[in-house]
Amino acid sequence: MQEKIWLSSPHMGGAERDFVTEAFDTNWVAPLGPNVNGFEKDLETYQGQDVKVAALSSGTAAIHLALIQAGVTAGDEVICQSFTFCGSSNPILYLGATPILVDSERDTWNMCPDSLKSAIEDRIDKGKKPKAIIAVHLYGMPYKVDEIHAFAKAYSIPVIEDSAEALGSSYNGRKCGTFGDFGILSFNGNKIITTSGGGAMVCHSIEDKQKTVYLATQARDEAPHYQHSEVGYNYRMSNISAGIGRGQMQVLDKHVHLRRAMNQFYQELFAAIDGVEVLVEKSADYYSNHWLSAILVDPAVTGGITREDLRLALEAENIESRPLWKPMHLQPLYSKYPYYGGTVCEELFEKGLCLPSGSNLTNADRERIASVITKVFS
Ligand SMILES: *Cc1c(COP(=O)(O)O)cnc(C)c1O
Repeated sequence: MQEKIWLSSPHMGGAERDFVTEAFDTNWVAPLGPNVNGFEKDLETYQGQDVKVAALSSGTAAIHLALIQAGVTAGDEVICQSFTFCGSSNPILYLGATPILVDSERDTWNMCPDSLKSAIEDRIDKGKKPKAIIAVHLYGMPYKVDEIHAFAKAYSIPVIEDSAEALGSSYNGRKCGTFGDFGILSFNGNKIITTSGGGAMVCHSIEDKQKTVYLATQARDEAPHYQHSEVGYNYRMSNISAGIGRGQMQVLDKHVHLRRAMNQFYQELFAAIDGVEVLVEKSADYYSNHWLSAILVDPAVTGGITREDLRLALEAENIESRPLWKPMHLQPLYSKYPYYGGTVCEELFEKGLCLPSGSNLTNADRERIASVITKVFS
């Protein structure tokens, strides 16, 4: 069996080890320390817009704290893109709030502005204005920022911008993660850069950042002893993880470039194959990091070949691929919650496949991938 080709695996640049070694040498192995501050500074500079960043233990933790800071409590309603990973939506359930799930549109595969508007208006008619909106830049593709934020603003509802998959993406030249009242990043092992596990909250004021750090460190009151007036969490990033993050920041733009080259590779490969669509930017306003390259396979056009046929053919050659995210409203855990929209994200799930997209794939890897794909569709 040939070596496994992964969908998206960690890709170290080299300097990570130096930052981690330095943490050992100076005995900053405890949580917090200079790497955490350094990593936050690097992210603030990268994101621009004068943002303030708090490094956390995961992207999911960041969404949890963003909901708390948006004022969400038990019984509230929170709108969330249905087509996403459960890390976007589970924190709504942690708080005892109710998820209101919304369909996608076909251009970016992200939250449909029309369905969002229907959801907001119907929930208000039913007696409750949603407390927050969680919109997601899935696979690195920016959502329709102008439309989504215009509706959120018109109804004065804060937006939590799930940019877990979109570090390095931008919309109209402005980095994803900086548009929302709170922005979320993830450095999980399969993301565009990794700290082996971690996340961050992107804030627009020092007060919001301080509040995030306070909640992420067990909500300690100011006192020489340990005193607590509200519930906190143990959600801060460690100094070791942040050391990996500092090294990864040095190669982030290179990773974006390489992932975009993988997308280009798939565009060229599928140009000659009818019935397969590669997710690409629909206008120059959008710039995707192409964290994962994703395709739709239409069996009505391919002569009956489905995305599952392709997935199994790749698997037989030890090449990992994966169906697109299964929409939350189709998940057993979420099926009882309200859903607004049509069948766009259901169709994406039925026909969609994510292909190997790592920044560390070689020419030999690409040749293996291309030969399986060409064979399946020949
Ligand atoms: C990865 C991911 C998260 C969660 O991040 P973790 O760091 O794994 O907790 C949230 N939303 C989306 C869309 C993600 O892909």
